[in-house]
Amino acid sequence: MLTRELAGMLDDALGLDGAAREPVALADVRLPPLTLSARARERLEATVGAGWVTSDAVSRVLHSGGKGYVDLVAIRAGAPHGAPDAVVYPESHEAVLAVLALCAAERVAVVPFGGGTSMVGGLSAIAGSQHAVISLDLRRLAGVRALDEHSLTATVAAGTRAPAFEALLSEHGLTLGHYPDSFEFVTLGGCAATRSVGQASSGYGRIDQAIQGVRLATPAGELAPAALPASAAGPALRELVVGSEGVLGVITGLLVRVRPQPAERLYEGVVFESFEAAAEALRIAVQAQAAPDVVRLTDELATRLALAAGEGRRRRAPLGRHALRSRGGALAIVGWEGQRDAITRRRLHTMTLLRRAGGTVVGEPAGRAWAASRFAGPYLRDELLSHGVLVGEFETATSWTALPALRAAVSTALAGSLGACGTPPLIGCQVSHVYDTGVSLSFTALARSLDGQQEAQWRAAKDGASAAIVRSGATISHHHSVGRDNASWVASELGPLGIASLRALKAQLDPVGVMNPGKLIPAG
Ligand SMILES: Cc1cc2nc3c(=O)[nH]c(=O)nc-3n(C[C@H](O)[C@H](O)[C@H](O)COP(=O)(O)OP(=O)(O)OC[C@H]3O[C@@H](n4cnc5c(N)ncnc54)[C@H](O)[C@@H]3O)c2cc1C
Repeated sequence: MLTRELAGMLDDALGLDGAAREPVALADVRLPPLTLSARARERLEATVGAGWVTSDAVSRVLHSGGKGYVDLVAIRAGAPHGAPDAVVYPESHEAVLAVLALCAAERVAVVPFGGGTSMVGGLSAIAGSQHAVISLDLRRLAGVRALDEHSLTATVAAGTRAPAFEALLSEHGLTLGHYPDSFEFVTLGGCAATRSVGQASSGYGRIDQAIQGVRLATPAGELAPAALPASAAGPALRELVVGSEGVLGVITGLLVRVRPQPAERLYEGVVFESFEAAAEALRIAVQAQAAPDVVRLTDELATRLALAAGEGRRRRAPLGRHALRSRGGALAIVGWEGQRDAITRRRLHTMTLLRRAGGTVVGEPAGRAWAASRFAGPYLRDELLSHGVLVGEFETATSWTALPALRAAVSTALAGSLGACGTPPLIGCQVSHVYDTGVSLSFTALARSLDGQQEAQWRAAKDGASAAIVRSGATISHHHSVGRDNASWVASELGPLGIASLRALKAQLDPVGVMNPGKLIPAG
């Protein structure tokens, strides 16, 4: 819910007109004509069953994209950027292999579809050089196939949703511990395909650190390197599959390491005079091996917005007595998960360092408020769109040394591109993942959206932010992946020979080029 306080802040800063902008009704969404040949459709139906190939308008709309700003704006306007000719629901690894082989033979593009939460256009229905495009929805390919409680690994089908997986593991006192902000909807295969990063990334690690084995169905057959705890048998092929975003094939199964469920979770707030002071304090703590499992540092503006958004309803009271009374500070949420004794010891170490570096510990209420609202972001974004607010989210990572210059460069670029309409945007910055050598940075830009020009506004902001990121030598994506929206920027990070190597690998596994056209690998 958009609180009155946040609405007031946005009105004051952006000069909103107060009019509600409702999305068009589902029935009024305009879809492109179907181009799938009758023969290809018959073969698909013969492979997965007639009831598991759908082309009704609702299925096509729901599979026309993900949850990035461009996708949302297009669908709210009733004009998605393309839609699949059919949605196909395979039930097994073998069925996926058969679908990919027939799509290669019939020249049909395939977009693997997991939880549908891509932020970067990874699900955009692009046919490329093929005559039609299908969405391959993996929801039937779900479930835990094996659990090895002795070695602490689980074999899981790729279409399994993260909450279902956690629920099953918890019956055995285990957890994967992977909680991206989109946790409620993501699939394990989607996380693997995008190298996602969860909230407790310092504790459980990124998804790539949890994956021990992958099974990939490709148009050329199966790629399934042995799933071992460690191996020196050449480069890890697994690593080529993790983060491959559906352009090489479909991840159908994973072997992931699991851990005992934490006995306790403790999240707390620490307030700093400034974002810079907080970042420096975190650097000292992380490099002293005192990283909390969860770190969410919001800069001064992002902290004010978070408080106003009502995460603050519960946070405001405890914070009001401390450094945020003047609303001038930066708030870090830090958290630990594990056994009580270990948490007590680790917390003492971290908090000693953070206090010494200028932090004021404001306690658990702030942490509990964060935990209660940590999956609420998507709903707020939808409401902001209805209120005529452009919400741009741009993320990257860099070294501790380069952090100040990168933050300044991206903020300046966003202010320049989004201020062109005459009203300066609000630009907040957040550190959500920390490493010994650097950090991830997420920028949120809120601007007055111009009706009918939202996409052009967003593209100007995206181009400005991406150019600043690339000029700074930072990554074009720390966790959202490349997809469609970052594909034209990735070459500067991977280099010409790197891109050529990816193309060669794709030519081997997907010689006809049916797999997820227009994503990850820039057009040649
Ligand atoms: C509100 C919100 C918050 C988010 N927060 C985070 C966050 O905290 N951390 C983070 O890392 N990301 C985050 N994301 C981005 C997104 O949730 C992740 O990229 C997630 O991993 C995607 O999983 P999914 O199952 O939804 O995949 P989808 O969105 O369905 O697909 C993502 C991409 O992977 C491909 N793909 C999907 N499944 C497979 C498969 N089995 N085999 C091959 N390719 C496949 C798709 O074709 C697509 O290109 C957020 C997104 C939203 C909307």
